Amino acid sequence: MELIKTISQMKKISSKWKKEGQKIAFVPTMGFLHEGHLALVRKARELGDKLVVSIFVNPLQFGPKEDFRDYPRDLERDLSLLEKEETDVVFAPSAEEMYSPDFQTYVEVTKLTQNLCGAFRPGHFKGVTTVVLKLFNIVKPDIAIFGEKDYQQLQVIKQMVKDLNLDVEIVGHPTVREKDGLAMSSRNTYLSSLERNSALCLYKALLLAEKLVKEGEKNPQKIKKQLENFIHGFPFTKVQYIELVDPQTLEPVKIIDKPVLCALAVYVGKARLIDNKIINP
Ligand code: AMP
Repeated sequence: MELIKTISQMKKISSKWKKEGQKIAFVPTMGFLHEGHLALVRKARELGDKLVVSIFVNPLQFGPKEDFRDYPRDLERDLSLLEKEETDVVFAPSAEEMYSPDFQTYVEVTKLTQNLCGAFRPGHFKGVTTVVLKLFNIVKPDIAIFGEKDYQQLQVIKQMVKDLNLDVEIVGHPTVREKDGLAMSSRNTYLSSLERNSALCLYKALLLAEKLVKEGEKNPQKIKKQLENFIHGFPFTKVQYIELVDPQTLEPVKIIDKPVLCALAVYVGKARLIDNKIINP
């Protein structure tokens, strides 16, 4: 396994592989890897001849009051985990390497980024699409894997690839959960043990939404209200949003008469956690 820190070296390797006809599979991450990331890495290992994983905490996708500085980092540990998964190259550039002082070009998906996390994190998805497009240009993947845990991100990336005719296939991977159902996340490390208990409210709320829909509830407002009350029964929690949206357009639905995405963002202590589930009536 090679650790590459410069864009020029990464481009050289990927160009060589392309010439040889190798299929490059790519998993972009911000590091501090957990089993969720590793599931994506294993899938990519299966789908490609060569496997590249990037580790880059992208400053562009964090708001001024968000956790860029505190975001957990442990490159040594990440490298040893990736080595075990037979990763060919870990691309881990510095922020200076990725963004020169005169950097001024952005790519933005306009509509899909309006709701859900986009409504509360202005500029976040613009930062995501810009860095992902840069990474695609550098790594030149044939296929790239993204987690459904960040459902809106996955849809936004698919839209960008379609709109800009990029030659990469985007594959989604189901959310990997802890035994009790909590979606794995690097941000779970922010949780104290009491907060960890409360963090389960996201998954339980999704199951409650599913139960209500299966029992015949069609009114999203009623479900949202019940979920909000339910979540606020857990200490240390503060709901940012609870939405029931069309899984393709991410627009709020007025009535639940076909599959719907239930998506949540909840602060548990200082950790902002998200989760989602597609619910079939
Ligand atoms: P991050 O390091 O948080 O930017 O995540 C890198 C990739 O891993 C993204 O495509 C995420 O959606 C995905 N991911 C993060 N957590 C999970 C999880 N629990 N299950 C599946 N994919 C995940």
